Amino acid sequence: MNEQPAIFRRSEHSLSRSWISPNALRVLYRLKESGHYSYLVGGGVRDLLLGREPKDFDIATDARPNEIKKIFRNCRLIGRRFRLAHIHFHDEIIEVATFRSNAPEPEPEAAMPASSAESVAAEAAPEAETSVPSTDMQGPESPPPAPEAPVERPRPPRHLKNEDGMILRDNLFGTPGEDALRRDFTVNALFYNIADFSVIDYVGGMDDLKKGLIRIIGDPRVRFTEDPVRMVRAVRFAAMLGFEIEDETYSALLELRDKVALASNARMYEEIQKLFLLGEGEKVFQLLRKTGLFGVIFPHIDAWLNTEDKGYPRTSVGKALEWVDACVQTGRKIQPHMLFGLMFGQYVEEKWGRLAKSGMIPLEALDLAVAEFLAEQVPRVQIPRKVALAIRDMLWNQGRFEKTRGKTPLYFLRRPGFQDAFEYLRFTSELSGERMELRMWWKEFIRTNASIPVPGAGPQAIPPRESRPPRRRRRRKRPGRDIVK
Ligand code: ATP
Ligand code: MG
Repeated sequence: MNEQPAIFRRSEHSLSRSWISPNALRVLYRLKESGHYSYLVGGGVRDLLLGREPKDFDIATDARPNEIKKIFRNCRLIGRRFRLAHIHFHDEIIEVATFRSNAPEPEPEAAMPASSAESVAAEAAPEAETSVPSTDMQGPESPPPAPEAPVERPRPPRHLKNEDGMILRDNLFGTPGEDALRRDFTVNALFYNIADFSVIDYVGGMDDLKKGLIRIIGDPRVRFTEDPVRMVRAVRFAAMLGFEIEDETYSALLELRDKVALASNARMYEEIQKLFLLGEGEKVFQLLRKTGLFGVIFPHIDAWLNTEDKGYPRTSVGKALEWVDACVQTGRKIQPHMLFGLMFGQYVEEKWGRLAKSGMIPLEALDLAVAEFLAEQVPRVQIPRKVALAIRDMLWNQGRFEKTRGKTPLYFLRRPGFQDAFEYLRFTSELSGERMELRMWWKEFIRTNASIPVPGAGPQAIPPRESRPPRRRRRRKRPGRDIVK
C-alpha cells in the first residue's frame, strides 16, 4: 500500500460535482473554507465513479467534532464510541467524520499526558471512552492541553483488540492516509477532494474499480479477524456492484467465515437488512450460500434448505428475495417483518404444521413455532420480538382469506395486518401456484371495497371516513401472545 497516494486530477476521472447532493457540496465547501481538509469518502465516491446513485454522502475531515459543531449551526454530534457529526438539512443528513486511525496504540511514553487526553475526551466521547489526536496529525492544531494534570488517572486504551484479534475499541484520530488504511475495501477508501476536484487513492482502489474487484485493505486474515462483519460486507458489495471478490480476500473469507458468529447479533440485524433490502438480495443470498456465510448467519434455515421439499430443492428463500428485489427496484419500501416473513414463512409454517399435528391447538402451535424460530435465530441475528409477532400475525391471518361470505371479509380488510397478509398470499400463491382463485377474489374485493391502498391491487378510491362502517369496539383477549419471547 502506498504511503504517498496516487492523485487522479479532474481530467483523469469521471466523478462530476453535479452528481453530488447540493447539501453535501455545501458541507464540503464550508469545511474547506474554514481551512480544513474536506473529502467526500466511502461508498459515495465509489458509486459516483461507477456511475451509480449513491445511497448517502459521507464526508471526512481533519476538523475535530467540536470544531465541526462550531462551523455548522445545524450540526449534532452523535455516537458513543466515536463521535460523528450529523449536519441536518430538511430532507437529508450529511455525516461528517474526523479522520481516524487503525494504528496500534503508541507506547505510554509517547502518548499524550493524561490531562490532555481527558480534555479531548470531553470533546470526543463524554460517555467515557477517550479519543485523542494522533501525534502526526496533519492540518489544524490540537486543542491545547489543560494547564495541569491534578490526578493521574489510568486512561482506557483507544485502540483495543481482544485475545482473538477482534477490535473492541477503535477511536483514534488519524491522518488522511491512516484513515484510508483503516477502511475495509480498496474501492471504499477513495477520497474526492473538493479543493481541486481530484480523487486521492492511497490503496489502489481506482485500479480495483476498473477491474471490478472487492479487495480488503491490508492482510485479509487480520482485517477479517478484527471485524468479521467485513466478510458479510464483501459479499454485499460484490453482489451489489457485480464485482468479484479478489482471490486472497476470498480464501481468507472461506477460512475465517465461522468468525461471523462472533459479531454482535444487534449489528448483524442491521447488516442483514442492508444485505437483503437494497435491491440485489437474491444475488447476495446466492453468494452467501456459496461462501458458506449463510450457514453461519442462519444455521437452522441453512440446514433446512439442504433438505428437500417433496423431492424438490427448496426455493422459497431465493424466490422471496427475488420478490423483495422486484419491490425495491420499483421504489417500494419493504419493512423488516415483511422481509423475514417472506424469506422464512415457509420454514415457520412447516414447524407450525408439525406442532399442530402433534395435537396442539393451532394458535398455540403457531406461537410456539414462531418462538422456536426466534430462539434459533437470535444468537446470530437479533430479530426483534415485534418483528416475530408481525410474522406470526401474517401467518395466522392466512386462514382468514378462506372466509369470503358475509361481513367477515370487510372486517378483515379493515384490520391493520391485512396488507401484510395479502402480500404474503400473493407471494405464496405465485410460488406454489395454489390459492390463485382466492387471491383473484380478494384482489377484486379490495378493488371494490378498500379504504386503504393494498399493494398489487391497483389504484382504488379511498372512501371518506364517514362512509366506512362504524367500528365495533370489542376487547378480546389474544391467546398466546406472550409465548413469543
Ligand atoms: P453503502 O452504499 O452501503 O452506504 P458504504 O461503502 O458507504 O456503502 P457504509 O457502511 O456507509 O458503506 O460505510 C462508509 C464507509 O466506511 C465505507 O465505504 C468504508 O470505507 C468504511 N467502513 C464501513 N464499515 C467498515 C468496517 N467494518 N471496517 C472498515 N471500514 C468500514
Ligand atoms: Mg454509505
